[in-house]
Amino acid sequence: MSQGTVTRRYRFCAAHRLHSDRLTQEENQAAFGKCNNLNGHGHNYVVLVTVKSSGIEEAQDLERLDRTVNETVVRRFDHQDLNCDPEFAERTTTGENLVKLIWDLLESKLMAGRLEKVGVIETRDNYFEYAGSSQARGGARG
Ligand SMILES: [Zn+2]
Repeated sequence: MSQGTVTRRYRFCAAHRLHSDRLTQEENQAAFGKCNNLNGHGHNYVVLVTVKSSGIEEAQDLERLDRTVNETVVRRFDHQDLNCDPEFAERTTTGENLVKLIWDLLESKLMAGRLEKVGVIETRDNYFEYAGSSQARGGARG
């Protein structure tokens, strides 16, 4: 029996600045270009959350998912400076790190094995995706 998935779309607006304290000013500029500018800049982030569909009580289920994502992700980041988030104290606020953080935040709130994939659209041309580490997925997928 194959199980389908369902993807829900969420949005938040946030500011950030790509900068690493481990790099010199020149290295930061070289690595991040204008995204390293001192004053930061904003994005209208789109978050795509894919879960295995439960097959039963779908509407109620999605309502619950919406509530979880809004409380855990949207409320946390909307109209915030991502660089001020404690989780980004040691990490640069790249799309790669953001999508992993959102995965971690949601995985701890959802039923085990439910979360399939998280995607983050940062700009028209930048999309980041994360589907968990292979160890965490267990051997069930083959
Ligand atoms: Zn940016």
